[in-house]
Amino acid sequence: MRIIGYSKAMYSTWIYLETLKLLVDAGEGLNTHLEGRLLSLRAVALTHGHTDHFTGLMNILITRLRYHKDVEPLAPIDIFWPAGDTEIELYLDYLGRTVLKRNPELARTVAVRPAERLPLEAARGLTLEPFSVTHRASLPSLGYRVLQERWRLKSELAGLPQSELNLIARDHGKEGVADRYEVPLMVISGDCLPINPKWAEESDLLVHEATFLGDSPEEAHSTVAQALAVWRESGASRLLLYHISSRFTKEEVAAELDQLLPNGDERAKVNFIVPGRLFSCELQLGGL
Ligand SMILES: [Zn+2]
Ligand SMILES: [Zn+2]
Repeated sequence: MRIIGYSKAMYSTWIYLETLKLLVDAGEGLNTHLEGRLLSLRAVALTHGHTDHFTGLMNILITRLRYHKDVEPLAPIDIFWPAGDTEIELYLDYLGRTVLKRNPELARTVAVRPAERLPLEAARGLTLEPFSVTHRASLPSLGYRVLQERWRLKSELAGLPQSELNLIARDHGKEGVADRYEVPLMVISGDCLPINPKWAEESDLLVHEATFLGDSPEEAHSTVAQALAVWRESGASRLLLYHISSRFTKEEVAAELDQLLPNGDERAKVNFIVPGRLFSCELQLGGL
């Protein structure tokens, strides 16, 4: 799956997951880089109501409105946003009186709460699950997990010949022979203090914010060291750090990672989005 993103703490953050056609946050500048990809977008999941994470929404809708009008109609996108966030609510109200007034079919806005299940792609058993994170006091802030449905043979049926399994499946359906479970393909933290590692257990990728290097007295963001600790405890396969402050250079962030991860194999599993530069990489996430 191709991941394209831009993230510079305080200025703009957005992460695009191409296979899922999902954008997590929508900071300024995304239309310049995503261009035609905005036409196949399926959903935008907003983490919280700081303007550097959502004011690019207008550009998405304007781009789609033009195409909708001049070329062909597009299916509405879902805009998921944290219920109770007054800043985002005001901005959506503004969109409703401007671009969405010109075509209400462009988007559905959906206020979401932790633990809800949001539709992503039924055919591949994919859903999105918001979870609560701690950022600024009284600001509802969310991280998101992309969950994929899997099935495994019921343990009591292990060893039965395929012909018998087929008979059971014919009479009782898929549920008769297999148990359904879910795995998180990827987890993204949003702006926050270190997340509970349980959210990223068994995931292929953890995308965690790491605004600061060294020790920070900040009470709303994480450091690189804290994000690494979450990753290690979670057992997630890979880690992508983002939302790094532009006060730090690429070389400084790399040097801190080299120091904190002396094991070369471990270091190779960690990447970061250089503040102010477009990020793009290809990763295997659960076969996607
Ligand atoms: Zn931010
Ligand atoms: Zn924030």
